[in-house]
Amino acid sequence: MLISTDSRTSFEKSKPGRRGATLTSSRCLDYQPVQKISESLLRKQVLLFPELTEPEAVRHFVSLSKKNYSIDTQFYPLGSCTMKYNPKVNEWAAGLDKFSALHPFQPEETVQGMLSIFYDLEQYLKTITGMDAFTLQPAAGAHGELTGIMLVRAYHNATGQGHRSKVLVPDSSHGTNPASAALFGYRVVELKTNDRGRVDLEVLLENLDDDTACLMLTNPNTLGLFEEDILEITKQVHSKGALLYYDGANLNPLLGIARPGDMGFDIVHLNLHKTFSTPHGGGGPGSGPVGVKKRLIPFLPLPVLEKTAAGKFTWNKDAPQSIGRVKSFYGNAGMLLRAYVYIRSLGLEGILKCSEGAIVNANYLRKKLKKYFPVAIDETCMHEFVLTLKFATNKGIHAGDIGKRLLELGFHAPTVHFPLVVEEALMIEPTETESKETLDEFIEAMIAIAREIEEDPKVILDAPRNLPIARPDEVLAARKPILSYRDLVREKALQSDGVSVS
Ligand SMILES: *Cc1c(COP(=O)(O)O)cnc(C)c1O
Repeated sequence: MLISTDSRTSFEKSKPGRRGATLTSSRCLDYQPVQKISESLLRKQVLLFPELTEPEAVRHFVSLSKKNYSIDTQFYPLGSCTMKYNPKVNEWAAGLDKFSALHPFQPEETVQGMLSIFYDLEQYLKTITGMDAFTLQPAAGAHGELTGIMLVRAYHNATGQGHRSKVLVPDSSHGTNPASAALFGYRVVELKTNDRGRVDLEVLLENLDDDTACLMLTNPNTLGLFEEDILEITKQVHSKGALLYYDGANLNPLLGIARPGDMGFDIVHLNLHKTFSTPHGGGGPGSGPVGVKKRLIPFLPLPVLEKTAAGKFTWNKDAPQSIGRVKSFYGNAGMLLRAYVYIRSLGLEGILKCSEGAIVNANYLRKKLKKYFPVAIDETCMHEFVLTLKFATNKGIHAGDIGKRLLELGFHAPTVHFPLVVEEALMIEPTETESKETLDEFIEAMIAIAREIEEDPKVILDAPRNLPIARPDEVLAARKPILSYRDLVREKALQSDGVSVS
């Protein structure tokens, strides 16, 4: 890891009068303001921007970028999150000004190219998932879930089943599932999974009744295991008049192999920022398109993209049963474009290879690591698997500590303490974009850690020693993050000179 030799912030390096860019008036001659800004809108306070030369500003941003882990710099086996490589051809396409300079208020006839890409993307997603229609509006997986739950409510209301008040979720589900259902007013009932980490059919039947609105499920589940009883599960749920919601964040091992539509799911959300290689997390924004079966099409969010008989693309803003708009404009267009390029550049053949690679890589890691760390449910997995660190707690070591030690060794931490059904869980998802060499380096690091647990636990408990931030108070950091720097010394000096600052 690189440690900056100069830890002063750009504010502390600031010197009055230093400039990075010099725009002389002669270079600005052809600039004509379109409209004069009203005097009342002009800023009257001093802006406290740091004053730096260009090289100092460049160093500031480059050194900030090096303080973070990213998929472009390190292996990132964050289970459930599918941190696969983001191909640069996606970025090239999204950067073309034919796309990036478009404005969502442009008249339809001037953006036919972009609309045709949205339309084609919807067709590909339909083919990949086996659903009948898609909306591209939702901006993330959780947003897709909320959209899906709104569709569930709209469907039941329209079919005289509006009394249905509960949503079933397995106890292994991602936290956003119960949260989305609860946010929209449903009572959430958690289903205890069986000792093989799957949906327990008996428990399902005990809880399934005329009051059930839907079952939310991810398959493979968050243990990386395929729900073998999926056809029986969907049959039972449908027989009680309830719907099936598919959390598609775990679609990565199924591309071209199995389709949630064929399993019997009615509503599906996908995470383009996971399975379809668009940037993720702080590098977002995300995209969580939602697909539905035919009987749910009338309820999809507005506007709906349609292709006329003449081959023109147009937004239909008039569907009386629609749940309405869930996002401004038409979704995160740049993400949709990147996912489109990803699918086009691989083709359906290539996409199938992605899933096979993801499964092979995960099982390779699982087999190599199981000699050193118990696997929560040790069966052939799909794209990810879960280790348990329970054996290390008598040395005071928890799953999070292994994550810290891995960060120190140059790997991003796996997902820790999730899924909640596994004590001291360490959830590992290598993805198909990693080479055998990288996986072997990770295995070596994990074997070294296994040895340290036995021989030198302090090395693990004191990690990380070489990163800009070691062990912050995670609750405070999440609840009260300090996101901007204030140069209190300079503010005070200016104020004592009678200058108003902001
Ligand atoms: C990531 C994830 C989600 C939520 O997706 P966001 O885009 O982060 O909102 C939901 N379910 C599962 C299984 C996930 O891995």
